[in-house]
Amino acid sequence: MEVLAQRVSDLNVDVRFNSRALALIADDSGRVCGLVVRIAGQSRYIRAHNGVVLCTGGFIMNREMVRRHAPLMLRSRHPIGTVDDGSGIRMGMSVGEPPST
Ligand SMILES: Cc1cc2nc3c(=O)[nH]c(=O)nc-3n(C[C@H](O)[C@H](O)[C@H](O)COP(=O)(O)OP(=O)(O)OC[C@H]3O[C@@H](n4cnc5c(N)ncnc54)[C@H](O)[C@@H]3O)c2cc1C
Repeated sequence: MEVLAQRVSDLNVDVRFNSRALALIADDSGRVCGLVVRIAGQSRYIRAHNGVVLCTGGFIMNREMVRRHAPLMLRSRHPIGTVDDGSGIRMGMSVGEPPST
């Protein structure tokens, strides 16, 4: 983490904490060109010039997704995870297949 954090600092990456991605925005061709993010309680629209990388973890806390995609895990009465609500996966699914280049 120290190496990663140092690199982020060196590159002056604009990091936003306590923010939540709500939805991806695609143009008429289906290309993802932005996203809606809630930052400090306010919805903001962010333009993405070079795509969006989704790294939002899994879906163990979303019982409906577990039921559909990994039903054996329903045996666990106390799933172990943090946010893991599958929101990023669902955002990715919402924009469908990438357009052919
Ligand atoms: C109890 C426990 C112990 C573990 N121990 C180990 C271990 O010892 N060794 C090991 O290698 N692995 C361990 N793991 C597994 C490891 O934690 C995961 O494999 C790893 O964290 C996955 O990394 P990730 O970046 O894909 O997702 P995550 O670490 O889950 O990160 C996803 C991030 O996305 C954020 N996020 C989710 N949705 C949104 C949204 N809509 N908008 C904005 N942000 C969002 C979440 O808040 C989170 O910060 C453990 C897991 C658990 C639950």
